Amino acid sequence: MERQIDSKLFAARWQAAAARLQSVGADALVVRGGSDLFYLAGYHASSMERITAFVARPGETTVPDLFVPQIEVALVPSAPDLYRVTGWTDDHDPLDFIADAIDGSTMVLVSDELWAHHLLGLQRRMPQTRFASLSDSLGGLRSVKNDDEMQRLQVVGGLANRVAAQLQAGEIPLIGRTEIEIAEDISARLLAVGHETVEFCIVASGPNSASPHHHPTSRVVQPSEMVLCDFGGRHNGYCSDITRCVWTGPIPDDVAATWDTLQKAQQAAVDHARPGATFESVDAAARDVIADAGFGDYFIHRLGHGIGTEVHEQPYVKSGNEDVVVSGHAFSIEPGIYIDGKWGMRLEDIVVIVDGGAIRCSTTDHRLVMVQA
Ligand code: ZN
Ligand code: ZN
Ligand code: ZN
Repeated sequence: MERQIDSKLFAARWQAAAARLQSVGADALVVRGGSDLFYLAGYHASSMERITAFVARPGETTVPDLFVPQIEVALVPSAPDLYRVTGWTDDHDPLDFIADAIDGSTMVLVSDELWAHHLLGLQRRMPQTRFASLSDSLGGLRSVKNDDEMQRLQVVGGLANRVAAQLQAGEIPLIGRTEIEIAEDISARLLAVGHETVEFCIVASGPNSASPHHHPTSRVVQPSEMVLCDFGGRHNGYCSDITRCVWTGPIPDDVAATWDTLQKAQQAAVDHARPGATFESVDAAARDVIADAGFGDYFIHRLGHGIGTEVHEQPYVKSGNEDVVVSGHAFSIEPGIYIDGKWGMRLEDIVVIVDGGAIRCSTTDHRLVMVQA
């Protein structure tokens, strides 16, 4: 079967990447497997021990190399104007091919997915060459999205938003069901509204909601407690990720007041997220509101993460990240407040950045909604 890929799209991606590599003084790139390889070559390689590597020298006019285990060559799309495929057999060491292709380079950037023993093998063969992290040097290959990718993120965000609206409308029964049953229901709905896959689904009830990455259990949801739902799927290659919380009964005053703080914190970060702001200042915009209300010690994670072909990717919205937000970034804004043994709350939207600021990909009610179902 002939596999076709969009040559123009991938050629543009490589040209943009090549320019960025040259801007930091890198004269070669080694990308193994994973999302970065898919981004550059349109090919999902097996993630097992046999290496598939996209190897390129941005200063040269020759097409990049794609080194592939010989037994998988038939799976690779034919795109001779994008890359030259070389199959390597088990009686060869593929690192010899890769080292040959980047011979004489002074600085090589490698993707996070390159295994340590591959990198060590390359360093042994090329003692004069400096190897550096692609994500540290460039803030990730995929972090700045083009219009088409921004569009896809908004579409998939809109799909997850519909399921969140169903949750808030009480269409997803909660009381008397287990977290696992609710997670299965939400997952089915994510597919029903158009996701091709479900990437994750957190349903955390009562005290379990105080654990940010809780895995759904057989705990049965009770009346008058928190239910935190954080879920997402994939559509057209791009991911959604949204968190909404509901309370299964009349909302106690202290919970309502804390939610008010959380909602203000999230809004402050959305307002602050615009081209020119640093990621750490976006994190601080939310964190300051929560700290001022006395909950600083209960917001125990970074504000957000980039999203695209992976649910979590660069850039990370956290203290210490002095990188600057630019038009085309897409990331989550998800402050949380977690009181051990009682409840936790989180409010999450994905935003895409345009010249004028941040646009939310999900718009369903940002309040803590009472659901008595
Ligand atoms: Zn998370
Ligand atoms: Zn999430
Ligand atoms: Zn998230």
